[in-house]
Amino acid sequence: MRYQQVADDVFTIRGTDVNMVLLRDGRDLTLIDAGWYGDARTIEQTIRALGHRPEDIVAILLTHAHLDHVGAMNHLHHRYAIPAYTSPAEVAHARGECHESATPLDVIKRLTDRDTLAWAARITAAGGLRKNTVPHIQPFPTEGPLDLPGTPIPVPCPGHTSGHSAFHLPTAGAIATGDTLVTAHPTSKIKGPQPLPNFFNHDTPATIASYAALESVPADLVLPGHGPIWRDGIATAVAQARENAAHQRD
Ligand SMILES: [Zn+2]
Repeated sequence: MRYQQVADDVFTIRGTDVNMVLLRDGRDLTLIDAGWYGDARTIEQTIRALGHRPEDIVAILLTHAHLDHVGAMNHLHHRYAIPAYTSPAEVAHARGECHESATPLDVIKRLTDRDTLAWAARITAAGGLRKNTVPHIQPFPTEGPLDLPGTPIPVPCPGHTSGHSAFHLPTAGAIATGDTLVTAHPTSKIKGPQPLPNFFNHDTPATIASYAALESVPADLVLPGHGPIWRDGIATAVAQARENAAHQRD
């Protein structure tokens, strides 16, 4: 199975080396992030396995506009008319009006071992070389809980991209941290909470500075954009990520 129930009405979906989060409120669903382009079927199959239809997704929230998170947004919009939202500071990036991501060359230079080569092959098969912008995306309101299933509360945490947002999920005592804080990645040798390797971050020092915004969120359960879930609290995760940041690769 490519999904896991992690709390009441909260599920994680495993795409191609990337995680998504699904929030349920009765029939209605909120999807946080949409994997790679090739992860559309995994999303649809998971939703059907849970007894829902893709049309039950009321909205897709985007933590940030990298290709491994915007993947199926256009498919879900064209097929089911599902709207997409991201922070006001991330809209231009998601629409393709500016660029804040690692280039294929940045990645190729780092394919130095078997793990990273195997990862590159997987993401290429999942559509990793396709251009994928989201012209229909809209900004979400910056204040307070969003009026969506799961009542997610945006937590601005710029750095990995300029408009990156985490989401506090108050009813589950959880936080979806996107790529500001992950717990593993095939290109990283570090185990446990960490920032991604520096070449993935638009601004690594700003990413680390944003940990101050995450650590004050009352959340025991951490749902990262990459790597396994973490149940020992966001403050502990942030402390470890700060320590690990000094050892992360360029
Ligand atoms: Zn990512």
